[in-house]
Amino acid sequence: MLLNDKVAIITGAASERGIGRATAACFAHHGARVVVLDLDEAAAQRNALALGSGHLGLAANVTDAEAIQRAVAQVMNEYGRIDVLVNNAGITQPVKTLEIAAEDYNRILDVNLRGTLLMSQAVIPVMQRQGGGSIVCLSSVSAQRGGGIFGGPHYSAAKAGVLGLTKAMAREFGPDQIRVNALTPGLIQTDITGGLLHDERRHAIIDSIPLGRLGAADDVAHAALFLASDLSSYLTGITLDVNGGMLIH
Ligand code: NAD
Repeated sequence: MLLNDKVAIITGAASERGIGRATAACFAHHGARVVVLDLDEAAAQRNALALGSGHLGLAANVTDAEAIQRAVAQVMNEYGRIDVLVNNAGITQPVKTLEIAAEDYNRILDVNLRGTLLMSQAVIPVMQRQGGGSIVCLSSVSAQRGGGIFGGPHYSAAKAGVLGLTKAMAREFGPDQIRVNALTPGLIQTDITGGLLHDERRHAIIDSIPLGRLGAADDVAHAALFLASDLSSYLTGITLDVNGGMLIH
């Protein structure tokens, strides 16, 4: 039980086959009280209930600062503390540079990058008062290798921004014993590609992965557990690759 009595907020945790949901289940299994935060209230509550008793499902858009403040206030009312934040909510889009429309740039940057900032801004003061905490931010191998997997250049840029933000927050809040680390998953089998990843491309990607398979949501959840728990007590500002060897650097 690596997270006994810890309170963990996981954003974007209501997607059926998603990384957030797998992380929520893994954290609950390790004793955490989990807050499933997602766009749809019913789905968030359903997923929280599926984890067992003592968990919470809340609706909030991570790009909406007021909704986030309300959600964090509800968590504090319910549990009185927040030990872990996983900035997992994210969206992508498979387009090339010249095809990126202004509104798509805005929504991809807003959810992936602004959402990570706004959630962290809401939770960090609580962690400061408590004397510490752990924030895990979902970046992507796409940030490191310049895309070429599924998401477009705006997605790569947003996820590279997440890496910079993670490192800067780690430096700033280390003295408060708040650790901030990033995960860079390779291609993980979830619904984020919305059925738009064709078999031919999928097989080409698998051929380029030393471990010979795509990632599973649990592969990422286990890495998130490591970063959330005291097993990683002297790690901050790191980027942890979860990519089966797709990018070794
Ligand atoms: P997913 O599509 O299965 O789940 C994403 C979740 O985020 C959904 O539940 C969705 O409702 C929620 N969400 C979207 N916009 C939101 C918003 N504005 N506010 C609150 N919630 C919102 O995706 P996934 O594959 O599980 O991805 C999870 C994270 O991992 C994302 O940040 C993604 O970019 C990152 N990632 C995924 C892969 C992959 O191959 N699946 C690879 C690298 C990084």
